[in-house]
Amino acid sequence: MLGLMQDRPLMISSLLEFAARHHRDAEIVSRRVEGDLHRYTYADAAARARRVANALDRLGLAFSDRVGTLAWNGYRHFELYFGVSGSGRVVHTINPRLAPDQVAWIANHAEDQVLCFDMSFLPVIKAIWSQCKTVKHWVALCEADALPADTGIAGLRSYEAWIGAESDTYAWPEFDEKSAAALCYTSGTTGHPKGVLYSHRSTLLHAYGGALPDALAMSARDAVLPVVPMFHVNAWGIPYSAAMTGAKLVFPGAALDGKSVYELIEAERVSFAAGVPTVWLMLLNHMRAGGLKFSTLKRTVIGGSACPPAMIRSFYVDYGVTVLHGWGMTEMSPLGTVCNMKLKQLELPLDAQLAIMGKQGRALYGVEMKIVDPEGQELPWDGQATGDLLVKGPWIMASYFKGEGGDPLVGGWFPTGDVAAIDPDGFMQITDRSKDVIKSGGEWISSIDIENIAMAHPAVAMAACIALPHPKWDERPLLVVVKKPGAVVSREEVIAFYEGKVAKWQVPDDVAFVDAIPLGATGKVQKNKLREQFKGHKLPGA
Ligand code: AMP
Repeated sequence: MLGLMQDRPLMISSLLEFAARHHRDAEIVSRRVEGDLHRYTYADAAARARRVANALDRLGLAFSDRVGTLAWNGYRHFELYFGVSGSGRVVHTINPRLAPDQVAWIANHAEDQVLCFDMSFLPVIKAIWSQCKTVKHWVALCEADALPADTGIAGLRSYEAWIGAESDTYAWPEFDEKSAAALCYTSGTTGHPKGVLYSHRSTLLHAYGGALPDALAMSARDAVLPVVPMFHVNAWGIPYSAAMTGAKLVFPGAALDGKSVYELIEAERVSFAAGVPTVWLMLLNHMRAGGLKFSTLKRTVIGGSACPPAMIRSFYVDYGVTVLHGWGMTEMSPLGTVCNMKLKQLELPLDAQLAIMGKQGRALYGVEMKIVDPEGQELPWDGQATGDLLVKGPWIMASYFKGEGGDPLVGGWFPTGDVAAIDPDGFMQITDRSKDVIKSGGEWISSIDIENIAMAHPAVAMAACIALPHPKWDERPLLVVVKKPGAVVSREEVIAFYEGKVAKWQVPDDVAFVDAIPLGATGKVQKNKLREQFKGHKLPGA
């Protein structure tokens, strides 16, 4: 016997229409590439998303055709999220930090028909437009009078002129909720990036999951600042969860330096912000230097790479902001776990609470996870055993776009490539990317643990730990350090800092000081580049 409930497809368009109806005056504030602040409401955003849908119909785009974006977090990008997907096309967010050739490769692979870009990326578009074989329409996200006349780009138009000519009424179509809605390519450290194709269903379920109190806890009482980019993994689903809950949205545009982000948080009374550790480092440095405090910020979700415990402590103890450490990946829409305390942990002493906050957290309902040994045997959730982390669930990828890379699943589970431990309360802690684990004398050293300790040293701005080959131990850790400006610290002092914090055999063999550590297009340390850079480095005693 089937249940007798209505079968309503989960459509992305319904999110924005819900927000427009129930939160029509809730604000969406954006720092524009032009430099000024733009503000309007969900009702305005929905009207303009409908114009986008009409404009795409007029171009004759077919169902599931891809519309590329190369844009910062802002209201026009937000409109494209809903106008493109809502009308049955696929919004394909491209990471503008990639090399121009890679942008062109991705646009060609995705067969984008339209490409919408912020004016800051005009030089990239000028360099690649003739290589993009499928793109018929180029749309600059600006007013008509801001469009330079002599770009040479065939079929270039301004977004405002394009959608301004259209009606703001539109009957959003209803179709199979499993239809493709959005496409995002992985950061791919080796070979070409691979596309992850989200559906309307996966996006809505993820938006529900992400809004839950034990995930990002988003509500109509929040002003949310996604510093995490809309060009990579849909800003962790925040645009969708915000529309679902009616939260005020504050978009930072291109200004991600500490001063700009701080001023936006204060001016717009942001209660919740989301970002990667490198951006938050700039914010904290700015605050420390100026002796500043937050007046409204209550919590921040930090993920994308491991958040150093020193940062969690500083946010919590110095600034009264709770850090929700989160973990996920492009293939997971991206949210997998978020670290929120349980009732029984609320009375724990501060240090014990901070130790829990350092973990990547508990799985959202909808994400099943397990850790396995090299033979695929499941390992216990004892907080000690570490193994390959596998996941499954309705917002986790089944295969890459166009079947690239074959079947990625192992017995129905997606192997994340991360190594983790899970404690009896279900708190997961990443110890490494499997390719970054340091295998020393048959034992594993967690590069993240070693980095976290270094990051707590007052002279260290940034640290990365990599394995170097060793004749006796196979591999030994080298710590690469960027000093804080003006700080003085020696190799010996850094090594001495590990005393009593880890077992002796886990202490790095050597410390190399550098001016900068290479970061990839999504803000992660590029350890492959570091390994290349230090290929010939001789460790003491090796
Ligand atoms: P991406 O697909 O670009 O979002 O990258 C996903 C990868 O980033 C994961 O598989 C992890 O290796 C890493 N990552 C994300 N969040 C965290 C975190 N909180 N701690 C450690 N690693 C993380």
